Amino acid sequence: MDNLFYEYILNPSKRIYWLYILSSILISLVYLYFHKNERKLIFSKKYWLHKSTRLDFYYFFISHFIKVLILLPMLFGVKEVAIFTYRILLKNFGFYLNVDFTYGQIILFYTLAIFIFSDLSRYFLHRLLHTNKFLWRFHKVHHSAKILNPLTFYRVHPLENFLFGLRYSLVIGIVTGVFIYFFGAKFNIYSIFGVNIFLFIFSILGTNLRHSPIKLSYLKYLEYIFISPRQHQIHHSVKFYNKNFGGYLAIWDTLFGSLKLSSEAKIIKLGLRKKEMKNYETVGGLLFSPLIFKRKENNEKYKECKDYKKFNFMYFRNIFVKCLHLCKSIKNRFKGAKGFR
Ligand SMILES: [Zn+2]
Ligand SMILES: [Zn+2]
Repeated sequence: MDNLFYEYILNPSKRIYWLYILSSILISLVYLYFHKNERKLIFSKKYWLHKSTRLDFYYFFISHFIKVLILLPMLFGVKEVAIFTYRILLKNFGFYLNVDFTYGQIILFYTLAIFIFSDLSRYFLHRLLHTNKFLWRFHKVHHSAKILNPLTFYRVHPLENFLFGLRYSLVIGIVTGVFIYFFGAKFNIYSIFGVNIFLFIFSILGTNLRHSPIKLSYLKYLEYIFISPRQHQIHHSVKFYNKNFGGYLAIWDTLFGSLKLSSEAKIIKLGLRKKEMKNYETVGGLLFSPLIFKRKENNEKYKECKDYKKFNFMYFRNIFVKCLHLCKSIKNRFKGAKGFR
């Protein structure tokens, strides 16, 4: 129990770090000062002792131990991917060292690159979890919450946790490997308490409110760029669950046509449809229901998403082909260019 406390409440890289919770409470109090009619729910027993809230609490402990005992030992690290990427680049393009930028500029580029590519990959993986029939069964665990609270963030099936861990190692590893290739191994990241400065800023500005009843939205134009708490709540709704896949940035939703502004979705009911919710109401159900396949399934919700199937295949195929072309043109351009030996 003590370990869990240190691991989550005193760890700035975790969503429920005490400072982020404190800032979220302060933002909530300011919000509730101006929205008197919404005070009732947040101060009620109905919210804090709701079946869904209690399930989040129990599931948080169980899933933590599954993560530590089973998932983490299975994942490979960022370091291995970075070294692998660096070696591939070295083998194919030869030695290169850019000396045109200052140390400060390199750190800024690296911090930004990590944040942007991490967020972009999070968007694609999240969208895939909705559009792939097999993966949707597992992602339903997160969407089965009827009431949102900061622990709902951890209501995620171990398989989804594993996929996000894999994504993290791959993306951060590749970006780091590319930077080592271009700028050498001596660079760092702009951080506060060891956390990427951008993540820290977003977290302190109330990322926790996404999983809360506080319906905080941003100015319309800001919601095209950043995901507001209300926009993520819209993603948790029965009706608009196939909108707002973004993590921190809404740019990806804007670009790929899945954005829903807070002003466009009025009253929202959270969770899944009744039939889909049936097996996702206990800790055991959350863990094992996605693994039990029945012949006739209620996949109405999935059917609504089928339009994205085409999007997935075409986008990933096009991205892959474009990357190949880009690599070839870079290879040709850099051959014999300044800096190569
Ligand atoms: Zn989702
Ligand atoms: Zn969520």
